[in-house]
Amino acid sequence: MAWKDEGKPAGPVILSNGWIVEVDRGVCIGAAPCTAMAPNSFALDEGGKAAILSTVDADDQETILNAARGCPVAAIRIKDASGKQIFPE
Ligand code: SF4
Repeated sequence: MAWKDEGKPAGPVILSNGWIVEVDRGVCIGAAPCTAMAPNSFALDEGGKAAILSTVDADDQETILNAARGCPVAAIRIKDASGKQIFPE
């Protein structure tokens, strides 16, 4: 598994569209809908928590946003390039 940022697999990482994405690993329960909804963006690491893949920019904004919305514990946080929080709203 290759992470977008090997130094901090859960982010925050900056996407090509400027979005800043992070998984709150203290909140993530490894339920994994994010990995099914945005398979280029999220995968479970060896600890069973979601992290952000190196291929994240292959998923479009809507896909990533839907994955964040689908997380049962709202562990995926997204900000736009200006730092304004997009999700959770
Ligand atoms: S959907 Fe949420 S709880 Fe489940 S693995 Fe992804 S970030 Fe973690």
